[in-house]
Amino acid sequence: MPAEIDGCTRFRRVASSLAAAAFIMAGAARAAPPPELILFHGRILTVDAQDSIAEGVAIRDGKIVALGTDREILRLAGPTTRRIDLHGRTATPGLIDSHAHIADGGVGELYHVDLSNASSVAEVVRRVQTGIAALKPGEWLLGDGWDEGKLAERRYVTAADLDPVSAHNPVWLTHTTGHYGTANSAALKLAKISASSADPPAGTIDRDAARAPTGVLKESAQDAVVNLIPPPTARQQRDGILRSIEDLHREGVTAVKDPAIGQPVWDAYRELLREGKLSEHVCVLWYAGTTLASAQAALASIQRAPRPPQSLGEGRLLSCGAKIFMDGSGGARTAWVTEVWHKNSTDIDRGNFGYPSTDPEVYRQMVELFHRAGVHVGTHAVGDRAIDWVVDTYAQVLGETPTTGLRHSIIHANIPSDHALKTMAELQTRFDAGYPEAQAPFMWWIGDTYAGNFGPERALRLVPLNTYLKMGIRWGGGSDYPVTPLAARYGLWASVQRETLKGTYGAHPFGTAESVDIHSALRSYTVWGARQLFLEDRIGSLEIGKDADIAVWDRDMYTMPAAQLRDLKCTMTLFKGQVVYDSKRP
Ligand SMILES: [Zn+2]
Repeated sequence: MPAEIDGCTRFRRVASSLAAAAFIMAGAARAAPPPELILFHGRILTVDAQDSIAEGVAIRDGKIVALGTDREILRLAGPTTRRIDLHGRTATPGLIDSHAHIADGGVGELYHVDLSNASSVAEVVRRVQTGIAALKPGEWLLGDGWDEGKLAERRYVTAADLDPVSAHNPVWLTHTTGHYGTANSAALKLAKISASSADPPAGTIDRDAARAPTGVLKESAQDAVVNLIPPPTARQQRDGILRSIEDLHREGVTAVKDPAIGQPVWDAYRELLREGKLSEHVCVLWYAGTTLASAQAALASIQRAPRPPQSLGEGRLLSCGAKIFMDGSGGARTAWVTEVWHKNSTDIDRGNFGYPSTDPEVYRQMVELFHRAGVHVGTHAVGDRAIDWVVDTYAQVLGETPTTGLRHSIIHANIPSDHALKTMAELQTRFDAGYPEAQAPFMWWIGDTYAGNFGPERALRLVPLNTYLKMGIRWGGGSDYPVTPLAARYGLWASVQRETLKGTYGAHPFGTAESVDIHSALRSYTVWGARQLFLEDRIGSLEIGKDADIAVWDRDMYTMPAAQLRDLKCTMTLFKGQVVYDSKRP
């Protein structure tokens, strides 16, 4: 085994026995060398089992060595100890995002046209025109982040909108969900998509009244265009990751699960780790494709890397498992549902129940393959039919080959049925599996599109966090960045408030019965998230022996008005005891 691999299986017992006496052990601390860093005069929300609050924390070798009152912590300082006065500010564990595409998202931030805050079709077209002015004829113009729910016209961007400004360049504009996008006519031509093209399996070519393609391509129909776009260079890939890490530090986020990666992204992470630039915990899922052959290829890549909780670089990089897609999106109305999709809230999208994006039987074989190999699986499932199929598959493979601790997850799990909820609860208790990795910020950032598509009744069941709590189901919180913005504070806020961005169908089309309080919301972005990254022995709470990943905030999230949680400002971030962000040092 290479020397950079490290395990932390035995650490758990040590950490939890120490946690029982989390507040300072004066004897042991006196015998040890003084801490390198202490933070004091703070309100430190430890998110330990008792939700304890400390005033100070002492750090040595990147780990927490003591927590306690100011008196207890200041007494430990030696002549070389650096002291940071928090001036009464609140600190939390570094936040954990259990689903964020930070590698791809960072490339988008740096090299694509940003459409995430465009408020009209005309504005999208203007930004495309400006982007094209810097390109040579024939070069691709790539844009990301548009959402019809945020556009004044409340309709898709189409090729007809783009063609007048893009005669000589192919254009591809990815919707914020990543499940559909718009090609201009030049791109459609290169992809050989015309009125006579049939929809590919598990894909939709959007068409006008005359059956001609509008330029909007959904799910696998996107591939014909996307496969023509030159992939990012290795340099762009690593710069994208570095950009995201900088943004994460600014928001107090110190750990991320990056789903659906391939070899180039893994290589970029490895290179940054070797260079000492990976100042973030990153757990990746390898994209397993839609066939048994592609799953076998992904398994081979997974088996070349250490198995969690083993990691590279002391918990910095983990090859966590495999990602499979069961269905599409609530934005594109391609997610696989039992009741017909709506549009504009009360209209019916007649005959549309979405569809599986992987053949359900093939999916089951893929999960069996990974499960038998002892590999964690995360499955994207938005619609209730897809979620049912996923949890039933997990129950089947766990019944056949009982294993605990693989933590198979349901990524998004937007509208779980009662059956799915019951199954998740059982799987968690019996097998330490069946965890939702939920995105509360969907209700906000794409909430107006979502409310229109799910319809008034079904919308109330979306992201049922309070039901999870009542049933003892734990979940990991996440942004699905770049689907929603990267900052985890939006997820904390959305878990409590459940408000849409624009209020097109009222401020609360998802109701507030499924709201949870900030204590539970914070757990989903800390301790519970840590488990989904296989890092619960290292991070997720501030306890003796754990990594000193700490975020300092301008306000106390436990006492401030919940409506203002999204405006929290991170003032300082520590990763393994190093200050990686300080708002006073821009
Ligand atoms: Zn995602």
